[in-house]
Amino acid sequence: MSMRIGCGWDSHAFQPGVKLKIGGIAIDHPEGLAGHSDGDVLLHAITDALLGALAVGDIGSFFPPGDPRWKDADSAIFLNLALEEVRTAGYRIVNVDTTLILAAPKIGPIAGDMRQRVAELLDIQANAVGIKAKTPEGLNMDHVAQAQAVVLLENLEGDDDIALLEAEIDDPKAVEKILTEIDSEARSSRQSRRMIPLPAFDTEDIT
Ligand code: MG
Repeated sequence: MSMRIGCGWDSHAFQPGVKLKIGGIAIDHPEGLAGHSDGDVLLHAITDALLGALAVGDIGSFFPPGDPRWKDADSAIFLNLALEEVRTAGYRIVNVDTTLILAAPKIGPIAGDMRQRVAELLDIQANAVGIKAKTPEGLNMDHVAQAQAVVLLENLEGDDDIALLEAEIDDPKAVEKILTEIDSEARSSRQSRRMIPLPAFDTEDIT
């Protein structure tokens, strides 16, 4: 089984008169994030992390900012395309971790909703999505929202691996034994993953 990791980063400036949308949810705030699209800084960072994991380019190469089709576009469209790329390549998302860096609004009270929405958009369990937030202490960037994202992908199409195994080991029983071991390992890993409870958000620690 092969795994791939990707990272993404984005930033958008706050602007009055724009609706604020982060992580696919609308947030009540006097200012929103300026951008050619809806300015969803978190979805942009995750989109780049997914494309980066596949090494197929970045959000700008798929959706050029000057293209009128993407004016005020819902950033879920960008994320969905990256997800299609992941599926086409034969991978699935293991987990996503993110950090938002912004002075306001406070993310703590809405982190749970944001996590649910991001999980829904990525078609994964909420316990595979991390949402963290920090204030930009000492950076003098209170007018900007930044987002960082890391994703881990795993390839479930093991056919190539099995063919390699069969080519290397002549004894079919030995191949079968190895495959049984891999299968039972995968089952116990899935089992332990299912048993991990959703962590509680410590809103004191989230900006
Ligand atoms: Mg962006």
